[in-house]
This record gives sequence, structure tokens and C-alpha cells, in this order.
Amino acid sequence: MDKNENYLINLSQKHSHELEALRPYAEENNVPIIHPLSLDMIKQLIRIHQSRHILEIGTAIGYSAMHFASVNEDINVWTIERDETMQKAAKENLANYTYGSQVHLIEGDARETFEAVEDLSFDMIFIDAAKAQSQKFFELYTPLLRKGGLVIVDNILYHDFVADIEVVRSRNVKQMVKKIQKFNTWLNDHPDYETNFLDIEDGLAIAIKGESK
Ligand code: SAH
Ligand code: MG
Repeated sequence: MDKNENYLINLSQKHSHELEALRPYAEENNVPIIHPLSLDMIKQLIRIHQSRHILEIGTAIGYSAMHFASVNEDINVWTIERDETMQKAAKENLANYTYGSQVHLIEGDARETFEAVEDLSFDMIFIDAAKAQSQKFFELYTPLLRKGGLVIVDNILYHDFVADIEVVRSRNVKQMVKKIQKFNTWLNDHPDYETNFLDIEDGLAIAIKGESK
């Protein structure tokens, strides 16, 4: 790990939050939960932006969703997960923490669950599911994002491969990395959004929907 990242992770008492009890399970089972500094960044954005209605695509074990809910008791998070093992783990975890009552799990493939949230309006959408599908999720769900709302996308630098695709050997990974590259360019050029791409951990994009759009 990068020296500076390591220093900052060690610096902060925030990383002894009670939800950190979920991190060992995720690590042992290769569940790709969000990295600590990216999480801190998003929680700070929630405070600055005063986001109250958040949509998450990719729940996994409910770790990031509960962390977002922990910022403020007025926050509600709707979160979509397609994998049955993850759904089960998420339900158990949501039942074990008070923040769990602010989190609404939607079980299904995010490409097919639009109707579960179509009557809602969101202040923030966090896209953290299948990386090749980020653009699909963006196009499907951003009609529900209010003007001035944020879209945050995790893993936009995917394992340092997005900036250096030549080192990728696996054909499948290469395909996925190409899709991320295309998505980043598409998002950067999107006329309705101003986007900031950050080189923290696995890369984070923060897009804001224009007030006039
Ligand atoms: N946001 C979580 C980590 C999510 S990992 C955290 O930081 O704590 C990505 C998850 O997205 C996996 O659990 C995977 O099953 C789920 N996923 C991938 N594609 C999906 C899709 N099309 N619809 C719903 N969930 C999906
Ligand atoms: Mg992620």
C-alpha cells in the first residue's frame, strides 16, 4: 500500500468505528467493500451536501450502506443486491446494528429493480456493483436524482489497470477495464454533470448534476 494512504489510515480514530467489526469477514471472504479513505471522503460529502435520500447499487454485506446511515439518523439508504449469499449476510448485519433500520435492502439485479424505487427522489447515488455496468446503472437511475444531486462511482481506476491496460493479461479483465475507460470518458464528457475524478485508493468519481439540467 501507498505510504501516504497507510499513514492517513493509521492517523484516524474513525477507523475504529463499530462497523469495522464487519471488515474481517469481508476480507476473509473476498468481498470487495469500500476502502477506508474513499469511505471517509463519501461520508464527508454526505455531511457537506446534507444528503438524506441515498441510493446504493451493490450492497454486498451492508457495510457501506450502514456507514452512510451512521452519518445522521435522518438519512435513509436504499440499496440493491443481486447475490443471494450477500443478501443473506446483509440482512443479518442490518439486524445487528441500529443503523440497519435506516437501510432498505432491495433484492434483485439492479438492471431490473427500477420499479422498486421509481417513486423516490435521491440526493446521492453510489454506484458500486459490476464495474462493466456502471454506465447502464447511471443511465437507468439518474432520472431519480435531484438537480444538484451527486453520483459517486467507486473503482474508476480499478487496480491501477485503467491507467495502464497493457499490463492486464486476462481477456475478461481487459474487457472490463476497457468498459471502465469508456465510462470515465463518457462521464467526463457528459453535458449535464460536472465530474471530479480522484486518485484515492481504487479511484472515485464524484459527479454533480447541473442545477439547470
Ligand atoms: N458497496 C459495498 C460493496 C459492494 S461489492 C461496500 O462498499 O460495502 C459489489 C456488489 O455488487 C457485490 O455484492 C455484487 O453481488 C453486487 N452486484 C454486482 N452486479 C450487480 C447487479 N447488476 N445488481 C445488483 N447487485 C450487483
Ligand atoms: Mg467498490
